[in-house]
Amino acid sequence: MEKRYYPFSSYLKETFGKKVYKITLDGGFYCPNRDGTISRGGCIFCDAVGSYSRCIDKALSIENQIKAGIEKLSAQFKAQAYMAYFQSFTNTYADIATLKKVYDAATSDDRVVSLSIGTRPDCVDNDKLDLISSYPHPWIEYGLQSAHDETLKLINRGHDYKCFEKAVIETKKRGIKVCAHIILGFPNENKSMMMETAKKLADLNIDSIKVHMLTILNDSPLMKLYQEKPFYLLTVEQYCEIVCDILEILPKNCIIQRIAGTGYSETTLEPKWVNRRFEILNNIDKILLQRNSFQGKNFKF
Ligand code: SF4
Repeated sequence: MEKRYYPFSSYLKETFGKKVYKITLDGGFYCPNRDGTISRGGCIFCDAVGSYSRCIDKALSIENQIKAGIEKLSAQFKAQAYMAYFQSFTNTYADIATLKKVYDAATSDDRVVSLSIGTRPDCVDNDKLDLISSYPHPWIEYGLQSAHDETLKLINRGHDYKCFEKAVIETKKRGIKVCAHIILGFPNENKSMMMETAKKLADLNIDSIKVHMLTILNDSPLMKLYQEKPFYLLTVEQYCEIVCDILEILPKNCIIQRIAGTGYSETTLEPKWVNRRFEILNNIDKILLQRNSFQGKNFKF
C-alpha cells in the first residue's frame, strides 16, 4: 500500500537510485551524561547499552564491522549500497583526531554511500560539524525527546531545548541532514505538549524524525521509578492516533525514519506492544486512510 507519509526508504531510493541498507556500528564511544561529565545517571529511560544497539560485533574493528555488515546484507538481500550508522551512546564524544579515524574507517568502502551519527546536541562544535560535513551524504541524529524544558529536566537529559535548536541550525548550515528523535508518553506530558514538540520541529524545518513510545527498559532508572510508582502508559491505539496527528502537522518533505520499531523484546518491561511493529504501522496506515489524511495535511508555516 502506498504510504501516506514520506518514508526513509523512499528518500534513499530517490537519492541513490537503489535500496540502501544500514550497517549499525559501535565506535566504542560512551556518553557524557553517564560518565559524570554531565551526570552519572544518564537519561532516565536509557539502559546499560545506551538505549539499544544492534551492531554486528563491537569487539571487531570498524573496518571489520563494515566488512561483516556488507557480507551479511549482500548475501541476505543482494544489497549494493550502505549507510554506516553509529547508534548507541554519543558518537561525537571524542577528540577530532579520534572521530576522524573512526569515521574514515566507516566510510572507506566505496559501497558505503552515507554516514549517519547519533549524538547529543551539546556534544557537537564547529570543528566536529565541519568534519562530519566532509563525508558522503552526512546525517546527524540528535536525541531531543521533548521540546519542553521541564520534561528534559525530569528525564535528566542534561541540556535544554535551546541547545538542541542551536545545534540543528549549525548542523543544517553545513549541509548535514538532521534527524530528531522524540518520545511520546512522558508521564508529565499531555497530547498538546507532544504536539508542541512536533510543531517546533516542523518550524525548524527538520529533515527527518524518529518517533518512539516511552519504553521502560530493564535496568533503566525509569524502571525503578515505574516499579515504585506506576504511571499511565499510552495504549497502542493512542500512540498511533498521536503519530498520525504529528504526521499531519509535519511538512510533506520531512523524512519519516521511524514510527515503530522492533528489537526491544528482551529488555522491555512495559509497554509490551512496542514490539508489534507491523501492527503499529498497519494501524497508522488505516487511521490515515480513515481520516482521508496524509503527512503535511495540517502543516502551517
Ligand atoms: S544521551 Fe543517549 S546514551 Fe547518553 S544517557 Fe541519554 S539516551 Fe543514554
